[in-house]
Amino acid sequence: MDALLSSITERQPPLTETLVKLAQINSGTLNRAGVNQVGELLSKMFCARLNCHHQQHAVAASTQLRTDGSAEEHRLGDLHILSKRPDAPLQVLLTGHLDTVFPADSAFQRCQWLDDQTLQGPGVSDMKGGLLVMLEALSAFEQSPLTQRLGWTVILNPDEEIGSPGSAAILAQQAQQHDLGLIYEPALPNGQLAGERKGSGNFTALFTGVEAHAGREHHLGRNAICAMAEFITAVDQLNGRRDGVTLNIGVADGGETTNQVPDQARCRFNIRTRISADEQWCQQQLQIIQQQINSKEGISLTLHGSFGRPPKQLDQAHLALFQLVTECSGLLGAPLAWESTGGCCDGNNLSAAGLPNVDTLGVQGGHIHSHSEFIRLPSLVERAQLSAMILLRLAEQPDTWLRNRM
Ligand SMILES: [Zn+2]
Repeated sequence: MDALLSSITERQPPLTETLVKLAQINSGTLNRAGVNQVGELLSKMFCARLNCHHQQHAVAASTQLRTDGSAEEHRLGDLHILSKRPDAPLQVLLTGHLDTVFPADSAFQRCQWLDDQTLQGPGVSDMKGGLLVMLEALSAFEQSPLTQRLGWTVILNPDEEIGSPGSAAILAQQAQQHDLGLIYEPALPNGQLAGERKGSGNFTALFTGVEAHAGREHHLGRNAICAMAEFITAVDQLNGRRDGVTLNIGVADGGETTNQVPDQARCRFNIRTRISADEQWCQQQLQIIQQQINSKEGISLTLHGSFGRPPKQLDQAHLALFQLVTECSGLLGAPLAWESTGGCCDGNNLSAAGLPNVDTLGVQGGHIHSHSEFIRLPSLVERAQLSAMILLRLAEQPDTWLRNRM
């Protein structure tokens, strides 16, 4: 074990160098070419170091409704599946996303050293650093004498930052075929693990009114933006009414010019839930508001969207896995604890499919999703050692971790 862990320590310089290279390839979710470039680079690195099986899959496009109700399609990058020893008794699923929240035209494209241990850059923490942690941990594990007991699959998906619309089906299917999941999202800013996570849904409300000249025939118009304003106020007032449920209007647009009564408007909003019963409560409340708006003469409101990610709750199988991570981190010097968070990730998807998982095994850094995102560089080695130790411990007692899978 000690030899494996110290072999990872020596990898700090090349890890840092590779991270800078990966971070400086823009892979905003809708930058398909960039996401594919990162995916190809990484899958080549995985194959070269791990001698594993590689499959590349196209995923369904992401669609967004325009104000006029027509669908805007975005082709997403490819998803990569890398696997080894599918017949071993214990099957572990490791996942990480290739995309970032920074679009191709973002001002945030380059890495910058803040001090000799801190690197700022797009995606360094969320989660290109985590992808390298995964590779490093697997490489160390593959040197151990216990490999025959544990097979693994790595999924690199292209669309986590928009809620994994294209990869959700593959994640769910792969979850059925594995015993547990390890996900390489960054640790919480204090270094701890995320435990329970809120669920999330994205929705679009489309409003149609009646167009009219603002001066000559204002009385004949039915203003879609005003109807939307009422809707937005009503939705916002649901905040605070149910424990742990928040609703956020994030985008609103409509109309074309000031001298016309607008007949089209659109808003997009996100809902976070604490328990799965919250979803039904939200749907009922939205229906009530929708009926009120639709009872106005000349106005029509349609609602689109769904809860893509159910809340992640920790059952016994999850708790056992968290306990193992705490033990391993304790042996490495600092036992990690877990706390609940409002953020969600593919860990929600895997839990919903019945796969116990820990989803914050990536690096430690901060200010993710902002132009000051940074990574604490020693965490590349620390977290790779942690994951290597987790894999070794799993392989020591594979029977403990088996579950009834399909
Ligand atoms: Zn992430």
